Amino acid sequence: MSAELDTLSLLSRRVLVVMPSPRDAERTLSLLREHGISSTVCAELDVLSRELERGAGALLLTDEIIAGEPWRQLASVLREQPPWSRVPVVLVAHEGAEQIRAWATESLRSPIVVERPVRTRTLLSVLRSALLTREDQYQIGDALSALERSKQELAEQAEALRTTDRRKDEFLATLAHELRNPLAPIQTGLDILSHARHDEAGERALGVMNRQLQHMVRLIDDLLDVSRITQGKLELKRARVTLEEVLDTAVETSRPLIERGHHALRVTVADPNVAFDADATRLAQVVSNLLNNAAKYSPAGGLIELSAQREGNQCLIEVRDDGIGIPADQLDDVFHMFSQVNRALSRSQGGMGIGLALARSLTELHGGTITGESRGLGLGSTFRVRLPVATRTERKPPVPVADAIVRHDRKRVLVVDDNHDAADMLAIMLEHADYESRQAHDGKSALAAALAWGPDIVILDIGLPDVSGYEVARQLREDPRFQKLELIALSGWGTEDDKRKAVAAGFNRHFTKPVDAGALCAALARASER
Ligand code: ADP
Repeated sequence: MSAELDTLSLLSRRVLVVMPSPRDAERTLSLLREHGISSTVCAELDVLSRELERGAGALLLTDEIIAGEPWRQLASVLREQPPWSRVPVVLVAHEGAEQIRAWATESLRSPIVVERPVRTRTLLSVLRSALLTREDQYQIGDALSALERSKQELAEQAEALRTTDRRKDEFLATLAHELRNPLAPIQTGLDILSHARHDEAGERALGVMNRQLQHMVRLIDDLLDVSRITQGKLELKRARVTLEEVLDTAVETSRPLIERGHHALRVTVADPNVAFDADATRLAQVVSNLLNNAAKYSPAGGLIELSAQREGNQCLIEVRDDGIGIPADQLDDVFHMFSQVNRALSRSQGGMGIGLALARSLTELHGGTITGESRGLGLGSTFRVRLPVATRTERKPPVPVADAIVRHDRKRVLVVDDNHDAADMLAIMLEHADYESRQAHDGKSALAAALAWGPDIVILDIGLPDVSGYEVARQLREDPRFQKLELIALSGWGTEDDKRKAVAAGFNRHFTKPVDAGALCAALARASER
């Protein structure tokens, strides 16, 4: 122990003494010293208050000194001590000094009162037990300040974890976005190839590439959704939608997986017209996630049952399979992000462990619940989604029939993308569709090309190296010659906010990468007619 700690420990174990006369003080001091009790005599209460700050094991006072302002100050210092760390006060009082005793008791809460005449043995034993009490207080104090330290450490660790978690979410969002960019030219390239004639091997290779690309797009979309949900950025596009529409879309989406597993699908819907105020795409995504899992986690030739029925103000949608089942203790876990019962098996099915977490978040965003049930391994699983149904029925406006792609005179399309491959692929697709096209790979050359060539349509990537696509759009719109120009945004980001920004910058349309060639051609055809 260092000398400093030694001194501290001695100070905190001494008795501070205030006596009415120096003679009394001297006598007390030598008595205590004789019996191995360290003490410090304070001439006045002011001095005692100062010494108390340096540390004390107990105070020894007499009733004669309990008076005036110094006493009041000392009493208030003593009262402010925390309950578990009150220095014991031994008060030597005259017999019958009831008033002083009452005052002392009230101002000090619990002094130990010893009546005169004082027997030496009594005084020594009272002081020793006061010092032991103080010793216990120090130990409790030490334990508490340990506790305090670990609380602080825990709080720091929690903050560090929160930061890491936030960075992980941001990283996932960026990763998913960056992965989308290279998919765009691949998708366009495949669309171009699919229009040409191939031998059988070529056709098969094309089919495989198309399927794998769609799978990759789905995985990336799931990743993006997860990061949007964890960052509270997922927006529902609510509208009146029927149960039938939701289930039809879900079944259509999952059909390839169900067929590949040679499973039978039985659909039983009691009331297909039950309606929801919901985001149809997102609800279908929930159901198709469950159907996909049923297909993935059942040996070939299984039976998958999709049923739905109204239960009061709710609709119960059930997906049941007779597949590999889920152990009871993991039924809750499977809804957590990245959790997989049998990692190797799930990975071999192309899973990342986010489908059910997404399904739960999407269901809860719609005010519903989702649960899983299984009688155990090998005994199949059942997932149940309960959703609030819409209270009033409303007739939906008819859905406009998709515009046909129409032939037109060769219109000029300027393609602006810093990814040369993406721009090349788009240009090839445009040539096929009988457009005249040119390319630019940054904002400045896009503006220059627009002025020099006068395109009818500009397809603009948003993330350009010099100025953003929004800026290019704004500058084009400022020029009266480009008021009628068709401006199409092509971006890896596809939130409602991104689309609003595109409209505000002057774009007519916004497409998220990888863009569906059919939808883009339809938009070009419509623009060409105007
Ligand atoms: P994944 O992409 O791995 O399928 P999910 O979040 O959709 O992720 O599912 C999490 C895990 O729950 C799966 O990896 C699988 O172990 C288990 N699971 C989900 N649905 C079923 C099911 N119908 N039958 C058996 N296991 C299932």
